[in-house]
Amino acid sequence: MDEDRIFLSPPHMSGAERALLLEAFDSNWIAPLGPQVDALEQEFAAALGGGESVALSSGTAALHLALVLLGVGPGDEVLTSTLTFAATANAIAYTGASPVFLDSERATWNLDPELLAEELAVCARRGRLPKAVLVVDLYGQCADYTRIEALCEQYQVPLVEDAAESLGAVYRGRPAGRFGRMGCFSLNGNKIITASGGGMLVSEDPELCRRARFLATQARDPAPHYQHSQIGYNYRMSNLLAAVARGQLQVLADRVARRRSNYAYYRRALAAYPGLDFMPEPPGHQATRWLTCLTVQPEQFGRSRDAICEQLTLRNIESRPVWKPLHLQPAFAGCRYRGGSVAEDLFHRGLCLPSGSSLSPHQRARVVDGILARAARRAAA
Ligand SMILES: *Cc1c(COP(=O)(O)O)cnc(C)c1O
Repeated sequence: MDEDRIFLSPPHMSGAERALLLEAFDSNWIAPLGPQVDALEQEFAAALGGGESVALSSGTAALHLALVLLGVGPGDEVLTSTLTFAATANAIAYTGASPVFLDSERATWNLDPELLAEELAVCARRGRLPKAVLVVDLYGQCADYTRIEALCEQYQVPLVEDAAESLGAVYRGRPAGRFGRMGCFSLNGNKIITASGGGMLVSEDPELCRRARFLATQARDPAPHYQHSQIGYNYRMSNLLAAVARGQLQVLADRVARRRSNYAYYRRALAAYPGLDFMPEPPGHQATRWLTCLTVQPEQFGRSRDAICEQLTLRNIESRPVWKPLHLQPAFAGCRYRGGSVAEDLFHRGLCLPSGSSLSPHQRARVVDGILARAARRAAA
């Protein structure tokens, strides 16, 4: 392999992070909490156009805390998307509650509001509503919150948004993360902007944010000695990492534009080939295209998703199948599932292409060459 490896979604620094990180380092605030964390929380809330933000150690920690703040615990059920990364449902499992998985809709690949309506109706008839609904915004695109918010309102079940993959997305003029009682973001190394590791919890409710900060610092009561009347967590973000996140946040709009331009390039370059269908972006949605995803119809395209993946691997290019639905994961065997086989089909035929904001024109062209490489050439390679 003579050419550089092309990664799926590598970190992309702007240059500002280094100075901020050194400033934090030299200030000796080498701690969870500090001026960089405070500044990040302000700037993050401003970037989302309001609300309050809490900087945490990971997106998973944000999800876990959000559920704890809603009182989710053993014996409860939480309705969630089946097509997502395991972290979504792991956070539910940490509370002792059981996830109930719902299938995707074709329009957004996100949780199908029809199935949410059915499940909530069944739960109401049983006299046992879920404690929360945790909806994922997949691959940089919001779910259909017009319908989802109305349903959660109707049944008075709190909504939490897992926007870990969708910082910068907009749905009907509102930014991802600002639907429901709380929104959760990830600043992990593969996300659209990164602190290397970190997460943000956002809410309109200052009391929820105050309680989140309290629980995230071991639930220490105000007293001169160490006094605890509740179980807490060590979930705050390092001041050093908050400095990196601040530098990244400055270039978020540019990163969204670059990822969308990757998508536009792939779409144009592959338009003439039948059997490749890109993840749709319905009216009202402004996705970030965190990852460019498509599904493959092997009968039309002439090669399967796995054959394309193999060809890209041979060319030192990273690609990944779409998430394996959680209702099919051994770790969640026995959890309730409502739906058909939409998510399963997306998993079997869906492919995520290299989508980093630092992808060069030459690299994008290499990816397209790899996708179009003929099966016969694969044997010769
Ligand atoms: C990345 C991700 C998370 C977890 O975020 P971490 O910061 O890695 O803990 C949660 N949900 C989804 C959908 C994700 O993609």
